[in-house]
Amino acid sequence: MYKVKIISIFPDSFPGILGQGVIGKAHSKKIWSLKTIDPRKYTKDKHKKIDDTTAGGGPGMIFKPDIMGKAIDACYRNIKSKEKYPLIYLSPRGKPLTQKKVSKLSKMKGINLLCGRYEGIDQRLLDYYEIEELSIGDYILAGGELAAQVLVESIVRLLPGTLGHSESSEMESFNNDLLEYPQYTRPKTWKNITIPDVLLSGNHKNISKWRLDMSEKITKKMRPDIWKNYKKNKTSKK
Ligand code: SAM
Repeated sequence: MYKVKIISIFPDSFPGILGQGVIGKAHSKKIWSLKTIDPRKYTKDKHKKIDDTTAGGGPGMIFKPDIMGKAIDACYRNIKSKEKYPLIYLSPRGKPLTQKKVSKLSKMKGINLLCGRYEGIDQRLLDYYEIEELSIGDYILAGGELAAQVLVESIVRLLPGTLGHSESSEMESFNNDLLEYPQYTRPKTWKNITIPDVLLSGNHKNISKWRLDMSEKITKKMRPDIWKNYKKNKTSKK
């Protein structure tokens, strides 16, 4: 079972969308487990204070290292197990999350996630625990909870047994550095727009060729960065 632990001051925001659809079913089937850790549990004062003002001045509050440190320690019986259960802080300044990274994380035994709020967390936590930072995009959310759900959902989809054959993840965008080709379903004609003939031809060779052509066209137009990789890999395979 893939074990997910999430440190968040809003534990009630989980499972959220992770309780629905194939991801929720995978949880019921014990393909993955979820545990939330509320850092307030480790406070000793009356107000359960988990944050404090920014050293050096400036707006906003920062999560305290003494409290968050205890929440992190609660995730690990032995911090050496961090290799099997990576510790990740969802953060806008982290490396951008990619499907390659998701695939790598899905091969671990589990994952421990730290959700920030306010202005973020004390830098000493990141340094002491050597926490990896991951971003889900170049924009700022109010907290790491939605980002954690994005990351967990993308990982759980890849765990064996989550997706049935009909929902296979093999033919999706980013596999082989290409975005997905256009997809259609019945009715054949809708608002006077008809499904391309080739897809109804029954000729699998032509259908594959059309799909590859479309994937290339779309990738080139939408994501020149991915297109560059694709071209490079294609040339080196020749
Ligand atoms: N002061 C921080 C900065 O400028 O990098 C932003 C803090 S943000 C308001 C609060 C929390 O939301 C962060 O600690 C992080 O956990 C989460 N967060 C915000 N944007 C994110 C993103 N793009 N990816 C992942 N997590 C994000």
